[in-house]
Amino acid sequence: MAFKLPNLPYKHHELEPHIDSWTMEIHHGKHHAGYTKKLNAAIDATDLADKSIEDILKNLDMNNAAVRNNGGGYYNHSLFWSIMSPNGGGTPSGDLAKAINEACGSFDGFKEKFAKAAGTRFGSGWAWLCVHPGGKVEVCSSPNQDNPLMPGVGCGGTPILGIDVWEHAYYLNYQNKRPDYVQAFFNVVNWDEVARLYKANS
Ligand code: MN
Repeated sequence: MAFKLPNLPYKHHELEPHIDSWTMEIHHGKHHAGYTKKLNAAIDATDLADKSIEDILKNLDMNNAAVRNNGGGYYNHSLFWSIMSPNGGGTPSGDLAKAINEACGSFDGFKEKFAKAAGTRFGSGWAWLCVHPGGKVEVCSSPNQDNPLMPGVGCGGTPILGIDVWEHAYYLNYQNKRPDYVQAFFNVVNWDEVARLYKANS
C-alpha cells in the first residue's frame, strides 16, 4: 500500500503573515510530495511495503538512507501540517500545559527552550516537543529528516509538535532570519491538536 500525500487542512495562504503562501505551496506540493514519492519507491516490493509509517521509523535500519530520509520526510511533514492552524497560537491548557510547565518551568520557558533547539540546529533539521509514556515531555532536535521515533535519535519519545528548520521552510519570507520564523511559528501552533497527540501518546 503506497503512502499518499495528505491534503493540507487549510489553504496555502491561510497561515499568512507568519508562513507565506508560496512557501506553503512549494513545501507541500513539491518537497513533501517528493518525499512521499521517493518513500514509496524505496519500500516498493520490500517487507516494509505493508507497514505503517510509525512501524517503519521505529524499526528502521539507520543505514537505509532512502527510507531514513524519505520516510522521515513523509512523517515529519505530515505531523507539521497537522499541528499548525490559521486559528493557532495562544497557549496550551490542561494536562499538556502542566507537563510543559513541569519540564520547562513555564510556557515562556518552553518557548525559549524550543526556540533555542530550533535556532541552534546547525544546517537542516527539526526541533521537537516529545511525550514519553506516563506523560513527561521533552524538547530536542534532530538533523535532516531524522525524527525521535527512529532508533537513537533525539528525545526518544513520540513527537507531538515539530518545526521544520530546513531553509526551504522559511527562506523565501525570512531569508537568513531563522529566529524570526521560529517566533512567528508560535502564532500558528494548533495547541488543540498537540493536546490530542499528547493524550494519545502519554
Ligand atoms: Mn520541509
